[in-house]
Amino acid sequence: MRQFPTTLPFIKGLAELRDGVYAYQSGSTDFGLSNAGAVVDDGEALIVDTLYDLNHAQEFLDAIDPVTACAPVKYVFNTHSDGDHIFGNQLFPDDAEVVATVAANAAMTQEQADLTASAFDDSRRPDSPLHGLADFGRPFDFHPVRVRPADVVFSGEKALRVGRLDVELHELGPAHTVGDSIAYVPSKKVLFAGDLLTRDIVKVVWSGSVANWVKALERIRTFDAEVVVAGHGPVLSGGEIGAALELGIAFWSYLYETAGALFEQGVPADEAAARIDVDTFPDAALTLPTIITAIYHDMDPDVAFKPVPETLEFMASKITQLSRSCPESATSADP
Ligand SMILES: [Zn+2]
Repeated sequence: MRQFPTTLPFIKGLAELRDGVYAYQSGSTDFGLSNAGAVVDDGEALIVDTLYDLNHAQEFLDAIDPVTACAPVKYVFNTHSDGDHIFGNQLFPDDAEVVATVAANAAMTQEQADLTASAFDDSRRPDSPLHGLADFGRPFDFHPVRVRPADVVFSGEKALRVGRLDVELHELGPAHTVGDSIAYVPSKKVLFAGDLLTRDIVKVVWSGSVANWVKALERIRTFDAEVVVAGHGPVLSGGEIGAALELGIAFWSYLYETAGALFEQGVPADEAAARIDVDTFPDAALTLPTIITAIYHDMDPDVAFKPVPETLEFMASKITQLSRSCPESATSADP
């Protein structure tokens, strides 16, 4: 296993960041290839997130097995309800307690896995409106996923004890999703951020809140973490954390303010999305109507969130369109 020196190369596998604190990196920023983590001390283990399908979860279990052999998994903590962070839950021991926020747990349903499976099955048909997503689904098999929801739910904050280590859970959503939360190990200054803080921003807001995402990033800054395990992309340390926070705050604030001004002018959400310039973040074009609709929801709760199937169809059509002119530009959106 790799030890954590100053910077950790972003390659697939388990790395010990601090004594007993681990990241399991996917080594890829492609769609759905999320990271996971673990905290292990004195004969007990906590797992953070469980990846997008059983094959990826099993690889993580195999990698962590030497560490958890004498420290059985006591908790499985899901940072949020997106499939790429929860679909592996079922492979963890039955007596481990799955922990999530009340809001995240409400979204952790079998229907979610079934819809994912059918959407990616559908995307394989060349005449499907989802065909542009076919490459996104290729590394995964969603059919065996049986969503295992939380055994223990919380709102606000929850304190866990793993061996002799304190682990704090903090709900910072709704932001990326309806129920985002982070885990922090104060004695090690390591923070597991889910998709709230990543090097390359996860540019999707399902039923979350852009205004609150900015607040969540400002809150993450107050922890003064030395190491952040991001839900996607490389582990962040030192100055990379501040840089990622600045980038995220700037991006979401820009969209919130720009869309807010168009909302005030009475411009419909889809038209606003077409008008807003995201040239410096080309992959944001895939999900912009969904993000802008969520911002409109922040402004007026009567504006409904964009339905997921509509978002997927838009992404697929945009990918098809972009791949005709610019093949590499459409591969890094995260769910
Ligand atoms: Zn994710």
